[in-house]
Amino acid sequence: MAVCEVCGNDYDKSFDVTLEGSTHTFDSFECAIHALAPTCSHCGCRVIGHGVESDGRIFCCAHCAGQEGVAGLQDRA
Ligand SMILES: [Zn+2]
Ligand SMILES: [Zn+2]
Repeated sequence: MAVCEVCGNDYDKSFDVTLEGSTHTFDSFECAIHALAPTCSHCGCRVIGHGVESDGRIFCCAHCAGQEGVAGLQDRA
């Protein structure tokens, strides 16, 4: 039993995610995404797939990276 750190739900099927050395507890992937998923530097959507990264900026897809002037990135499949 653990309490979700996003919505406060006390749920018996909660799970932990360890990211950069700290552990977070959630009751659902929706809450985990809300708390942990990075946002695309161009369109602002949550990056929950592989995404692409350049110079510390994260984009949801190569198209968004291109819109921000980052050339040569390709979607990782
Ligand atoms: Zn929750
Ligand atoms: Zn995007």
